[in-house]
Amino acid sequence: MKNEYRLMTNIVALSESKDWDDAKTEWRFTNAFQREGSECLCGKINITNVCVIVNKKNDNRTEVGNCCVKKFMNISNGDTFFSSINKLKKNIKSNITNNFLHHLIDTEFITSDEYRLLSKFQDQNEKKTSGDWNSKIEINQRILDEYCKC
Ligand SMILES: [Zn+2]
Repeated sequence: MKNEYRLMTNIVALSESKDWDDAKTEWRFTNAFQREGSECLCGKINITNVCVIVNKKNDNRTEVGNCCVKKFMNISNGDTFFSSINKLKKNIKSNITNNFLHHLIDTEFITSDEYRLLSKFQDQNEKKTSGDWNSKIEINQRILDEYCKC
């Protein structure tokens, strides 16, 4: 409970509204990544799965642990990022989730050509795919370098 109170206090401090129920609606998910030894707004330390959220009214930006973000924002975006990152860590040839793929093209982290290349792999059986594996591995490695600071 103490942690939850701390999270609410910190979020409200960064929000326009000083009422928790209003304040929490001001925030939107913008990014997520893994970084060991991070700290959540609730005070929890040594977290790895970090979500970046932005206030729609004043552009304040802050980092919240993936578990805490779900306490006040009805989102699971972080989950799709982290499952993708974990898959890439195990096997660099893996497919990432569609949600994460869309984020990467929306933020122009990958080009539209790269998006098309990865999309071609998405729907196919991994072993049967005949495509440009070298390019896929190169893109996946770049994604991992950016989104996993472990
Ligand atoms: Zn937390």
